[in-house]
Amino acid sequence: MKLIDLHTHSTASDGTDSPSELVAKAAGQGLAALALTDHDTARGLDEAEEAAKAKGIEFIRGCELSTSTDQGEMHVLGLFLPHDCGALDGFLQCLREGRKRRNVLMVEKLREAGLDISMEEVEAKARSSVGRPHMAAVLKEKGYVRDTNEAFDKWLGIKGKAYVPKLAPRPEQAVRILRELGASPVLAHPLLRPRPEGWLDNLVRDLKPAGLFGLEAWHSAQNEAQEAEIKALARKYDLGLSGGSDYHGRNKPDIQLGTGKGNLRVEYKTLEKLKGRRRALGLPC
Ligand code: AMP
Ligand code: ZN
Ligand code: FE
Ligand code: FE
Repeated sequence: MKLIDLHTHSTASDGTDSPSELVAKAAGQGLAALALTDHDTARGLDEAEEAAKAKGIEFIRGCELSTSTDQGEMHVLGLFLPHDCGALDGFLQCLREGRKRRNVLMVEKLREAGLDISMEEVEAKARSSVGRPHMAAVLKEKGYVRDTNEAFDKWLGIKGKAYVPKLAPRPEQAVRILRELGASPVLAHPLLRPRPEGWLDNLVRDLKPAGLFGLEAWHSAQNEAQEAEIKALARKYDLGLSGGSDYHGRNKPDIQLGTGKGNLRVEYKTLEKLKGRRRALGLPC
């Protein structure tokens, strides 16, 4: 059975493998296709695409855009990004500013709590886009926490003492921009966080006319019941299905490329079906 991974992160955001290392790993594992979907950037894509050509593995250009809802953050994957993503620049600029402000506020909260941590130390952990995993790395290095999980539970996660929400555009905007670019907007890990009954259904209903293309049915943090729920929702709104590990290298050590926590399997036919839906819309694959 040919397997794929359509949700991964590199050093272009908060993963620890460079784009070419990631591609080499995917090829080494025998994956048939890989999408690189770094947070709020397309920076790693050219390097990954070139490496994929050399390794003979199918590559899908992608990204994962952060958005804000009344129920917290929601992530929108953009699959099949074109080479020219200039139309995304304004959106990404807005996200970068929101992220920067949020990082400053979180480091301030950590300092107010008596922890010796500076923005410079956090930035030194990141090659580009700075985020909470880099704060976690500093907290761990300084012995304030044992591991990343503890850093998020105690300090950085939504219930953590230093948590500050990130301001971002609404998911409708991300979906519209991606669709205008000819990319395929897919709601990432739709059931990752508990939300009120019917909330996701309403969101999908609203995003469908904006151009939502699919839902991520397979993800390292989603169980079989959730997979079934997402598939039912996709049927209801005639949406495609996608899947990936959300691999971050050493920043999420319990998640492996392709196989997630061990039992993830995303079949190549998932990609074929997504491509079929694109062709039906006259979009390139
Ligand atoms: P940020 O972009 O700064 O909001 O950080 C988001 C990243 O933090 C996600 O991509 C995850 O890699 C990581 N993350 C979020 N929640 C957790 C958690 N509970 N444990 C470990 N990593 C997490
Ligand atoms: Zn991440
Ligand atoms: Fe995400
Ligand atoms: Fe992700």
